[in-house]
Amino acid sequence: MCNIHPSRSSVGVVSLWILLFCTACLTAVATATAVAQSESEAKGSHSDDDSNRARTRRPSARERAAARRAAREAAAKEKKDAERRKWLARLEARGVEAWPEDVSDEEHADAVAKSREMIEEVIDLLPGTQLYETDHFLFTSNMPAEQVIPYAASLDQMYRYMCQLYGVERGEKVWLGGKAPIFAFLEKHQFDAFEERFFPDARQSLGAVANIYGLCHLSSSGEVVISCYRGDDPHDFGQMLVHETSHGFIHRYKTKARLPNWVDEGMADLVGAEMVPRSKAVRNRELAAMQRLAAQPSLGGMLSAERIVDWQYGLASSLNRFLLQANREGYVRFIEALKEGMTWEAALGEAYASTPEVLLAHYSRWIGVAGLRP
Ligand SMILES: [Zn+2]
Repeated sequence: MCNIHPSRSSVGVVSLWILLFCTACLTAVATATAVAQSESEAKGSHSDDDSNRARTRRPSARERAAARRAAREAAAKEKKDAERRKWLARLEARGVEAWPEDVSDEEHADAVAKSREMIEEVIDLLPGTQLYETDHFLFTSNMPAEQVIPYAASLDQMYRYMCQLYGVERGEKVWLGGKAPIFAFLEKHQFDAFEERFFPDARQSLGAVANIYGLCHLSSSGEVVISCYRGDDPHDFGQMLVHETSHGFIHRYKTKARLPNWVDEGMADLVGAEMVPRSKAVRNRELAAMQRLAAQPSLGGMLSAERIVDWQYGLASSLNRFLLQANREGYVRFIEALKEGMTWEAALGEAYASTPEVLLAHYSRWIGVAGLRP
């Protein structure tokens, strides 16, 4: 069963999404300068004698278009800045911290250098381990090379899916350093040894939790490290990988606010099932949850649980699926509101103009179980 754990051993800096912003600014500045130059050139020629006036060059169609474009870009930037100021004020009122917008190239380079140090140490310690670098991940594994490739591909696919779902612009670096490190071991004891070596605190606090298949370490300074082992079913392994990575993605989405556990786990399973349809893990968990609800129509306190229990994973993914299918844009707005620090009840009102009671009644009908209690 999956688990998520915030790592206490976090060093380093934070991240993200200003590069594109900066580039846009620079473009606007450069264009404005070009226009200003062409205007001053034009003015200069006007100050010459009248006989030159006929020869004074008027801005070409291309220059006029560039000026209009620069004005549009400046207005769009002003609007975006104003929206961001309002958004930051809302976050401040709720005590939520945004991920920094202006992460420098150096900060990204430092973060990726730290990941590579960890990777080198693992490669040294565990013969047969290799690094497979994808567009968005540093996948380190001692699994047979031919097995690694499809998994790595499904991770990049998940990354693109989530960027599209949440409107993350192309070129934005979701991960600090641009690539998230993933350690996937062949054997459970190798995964245990890795956790013991790099995340001893997490190990201790998880002590009693057995059957951990994969972990996503999230730090408040922005680093994300995923570790896991292969297990027996290759499809379930792929589903788990996507699941854990989804936790990392949502951690890095916009703010440091944590989602309610039923949303975090439900969405992670939903995305995992979507990306790795051949895995039956999520479907089986949902079927088991539905059987349980039919016998005992209660969510078992899932909506307010700090950490949901095993059988509720199937319920959480089913309820998230219902919300997503009911209104895709509403679902995105729901997640955004949660990341702004709203309670899930308030976020539901904001995104779906609904209440927990109405949600329960509609979901009850959707799954065909009458009298569902929270
Ligand atoms: Zn999870």
